[in-house]
Amino acid sequence: MKTGYTADIGLEVHAELQTHSKMFCACPVVDLTRAEPNTAVCPVCAGLPGTLPVVNAAAVDAALTVALSLDCTIAATSVFARKNYFYPDLPKGYQISQYELPLAESGLLPVHTAEGWLEIHIRRVHLEEDTAKLTHIYETDGSGYSLADLNRAGIPLLEIVSEPDMHTIEQVQAYTRGLRRLLQYLGVNAGELEKGVMRFEANVSLRPVRSETLGTRVEIKNLNSFRAMTAAITYELERQEAVLNSGGIVAQQTLGWDEAEAKTFSQRSKEEAHDYRYFPEPDLPPLVVAESQIDELQAGLPERPDRRFRRFTTDFGLEDYQADLLTGEKAIADFFENTLAHMNAPEPHLAANWILGELFGLLNTSGDLIDETPVSPASLAQLLALLQTGEINAASAKAVLAEMYAAGGKPAEIVQDSGLGQISDPVSLSKVITEVMAQNPQEVQSYRQGKAALRSWFFGQVMKATGGRADPQVVQHLLDAHLSKTS
Ligand code: ADP
Ligand code: MG
Ligand code: ZN
Repeated sequence: MKTGYTADIGLEVHAELQTHSKMFCACPVVDLTRAEPNTAVCPVCAGLPGTLPVVNAAAVDAALTVALSLDCTIAATSVFARKNYFYPDLPKGYQISQYELPLAESGLLPVHTAEGWLEIHIRRVHLEEDTAKLTHIYETDGSGYSLADLNRAGIPLLEIVSEPDMHTIEQVQAYTRGLRRLLQYLGVNAGELEKGVMRFEANVSLRPVRSETLGTRVEIKNLNSFRAMTAAITYELERQEAVLNSGGIVAQQTLGWDEAEAKTFSQRSKEEAHDYRYFPEPDLPPLVVAESQIDELQAGLPERPDRRFRRFTTDFGLEDYQADLLTGEKAIADFFENTLAHMNAPEPHLAANWILGELFGLLNTSGDLIDETPVSPASLAQLLALLQTGEINAASAKAVLAEMYAAGGKPAEIVQDSGLGQISDPVSLSKVITEVMAQNPQEVQSYRQGKAALRSWFFGQVMKATGGRADPQVVQHLLDAHLSKTS
């Protein structure tokens, strides 16, 4: 903020864990945007009396993987609790969540922003279950009703709570994008926000710049997209600033975000804050995590995206934007590093440019994902080797890559078969230059009379005559000698 206030922002991120089955029953975790409503439901997740929950071990492993990646301290014993409240999206009348003793605490996620690296501290990471999905139908006559889809009830949900370490919208965006990328790397969440698999709650407060004490916070609920989160926090910062500037005080409250009106609205004040009557879930034993389980999961962790980004910029000297794009997906970063590993003379910039430029272009056009590309890292490395040794020029390399993409094949063979090899032999190129000059006597004369700009026109004509295969450096070298010859 440019004003006399510092903003403090802490986020609660809810991420579904995309395991095969739900958190406490054997129902499948389905794509809510595709599955017929209420088709993945059983007596347990429908909350029928007499049923008993059973913890999904795969969800615990996924949660631990995230917590370990965030460098959290894992609790040897954590406890599930009942969070009691009445709402139509909650069939049991309570949500099983972790409260006093969460799975993990005290983590850290460094995020990269335009101003450099920022450390976001993680307060806690805990496991819970998702609620049913409600869809509100409004009829034109003013009546309405709500539909409940229990397919979502009981899907494993991970809550990641940060410290209020963010002070600008840009930092919030860097953190949420960083977290989303991490979850994707770990394969626990595909990050498709439009499907509701990641949701945010933002806690926002302001304090005078010279004050060390945090201001009174509001909590904005149900932010389901980066866009909504950005708009809601921006709105709230401006609202609080206006309140403080006019001598008022910010009331602690829970807010909703009205997308259509583009403003926050009060859901409840501190006085009417929920009493969830938490107590330990009597139907589940404490969750015990063995040291050996932690060691095993730790050993299997992929390199974290922010560490990979740092390595790409420091060890390989890549630009920030290149490292950012290359680490956007684990499969892309793997492809890049595999390509380098196959190069005899690894040139990170060259490989990065070809992957981010030409290969991405082909992927976009075809709609393929990086792991579906018909071009392997080994064959891309072979193509780049032809470029490095000057056997082909960049224009030919593009044509060869397109051919490899469309029909497969080895770069060297495609070059041979299609006659795309670069012409760098001075005798052949001199012949081409002489021919071009013979066909354009007028331009030769103008050049010799002082129209120097024609030099690059001649260069273009030579490149055209060779179908782009002439070695530009050799042509540049030969051109002057030929053009100035007054035979
Ligand atoms: P609750 O469970 O009531 O939401 P927590 O103590 O768990 O309360 O805090 C939730 C979030 O609020 C955390 O992300 C934390 O960083 C953030 N937070 C706490 N105090 C402030 C504050 N004064 N300003 C901004 N964010 C805050
Ligand atoms: Mg909260
Ligand atoms: Zn079920």
